[in-house]
Amino acid sequence: MNRANAVCLAAPRGAVEVRPFEAGEPGGGEVRVRMEACGICHSDVMIAGLEKLPLSPLVLGHEGIGIVEAAGEGVTEVSVGDRVGITYFGAGCGQCAACGSGHARYCAKQSNHGYTRHGALSAHAVVAAQNLIRVPAALSPGEAAPLCCAGWTAMGALREAGIERGQWVAIVGFGGLGHLACGYAKEMGARVAVIDSSAEKLEFARSLGAEIAVLPDTARKTIVKETGGVQAAIVFTAAAAAAPVALSTVQRRGSLVLVGLTADAFPVSMTEVVLKGLRIQGSYLGTRQDLERVFEMAAAGRVKAHVSMHGIGEAPELIGRLGRGEMRGRAVVGF
Ligand SMILES: [Zn+2]
Ligand SMILES: [Zn+2]
Repeated sequence: MNRANAVCLAAPRGAVEVRPFEAGEPGGGEVRVRMEACGICHSDVMIAGLEKLPLSPLVLGHEGIGIVEAAGEGVTEVSVGDRVGITYFGAGCGQCAACGSGHARYCAKQSNHGYTRHGALSAHAVVAAQNLIRVPAALSPGEAAPLCCAGWTAMGALREAGIERGQWVAIVGFGGLGHLACGYAKEMGARVAVIDSSAEKLEFARSLGAEIAVLPDTARKTIVKETGGVQAAIVFTAAAAAAPVALSTVQRRGSLVLVGLTADAFPVSMTEVVLKGLRIQGSYLGTRQDLERVFEMAAAGRVKAHVSMHGIGEAPELIGRLGRGEMRGRAVVGF
């Protein structure tokens, strides 16, 4: 019935494979979505490499666009026929301090699509209804999909960085998140410097309006010379080695914002942080307003995600390529 192909992680650190999957019926607070598209995110690569999984086999994917085809009991957020976006954030517990203060994404008991519950890289997906976003009809599934994670997270980080018109921001890592962050930063009137270890991605950054695009080993010298130090440097890449490089480009009383996920540590000079009054902060996903804002900006044609569309059969290979840093823009699977 709703048995169809899905991108499954067979076991912890196991193979990513396309196999038939029965999404089943939505329970209380859940809906079943007929998927149109789902992007592939670096977090899928990270989850595929974890030693333990809360669920296995696990359907990956948390950047999904589709149409609600069935709703479970108690669902008030969306209705059958609505076009919705599925993010990594499933539902919060609704009772903790984080949930009560508008920061449910920091809830310790949250559910996550494509991690603690099945995700959206599937022809049909049963997902939590609580945090779905309505998707404007004007957006194609391919351009809408990356907004659910890459766009949302990029916007959240820029807001946390407190970037204002005319200020410089350094974007470290020019993949799915970085290229959208560049577009949003420019829309906000900020000036953009990009650091990436791929010459091809630096070229891409220049084509999207980055005024400075440099390799990591010359980043500090070039960026400090040309900008006097950026207001904030945002690390989107999952490489710990990028953080000290990013920090070295930040001006006094500026910020280092960490977004890319790695268990690795990086060295930091406490003296430098103290004497320059630097802030180091993490940013995870974004607020509901951030999510709405990226969809509004996309629907108005102000910032466009650069995507390549693929069939579901290509997903395992795409996840491998993303892990090796070989993807430009965002890879999206169409259903
Ligand atoms: Zn993601
Ligand atoms: Zn909570």
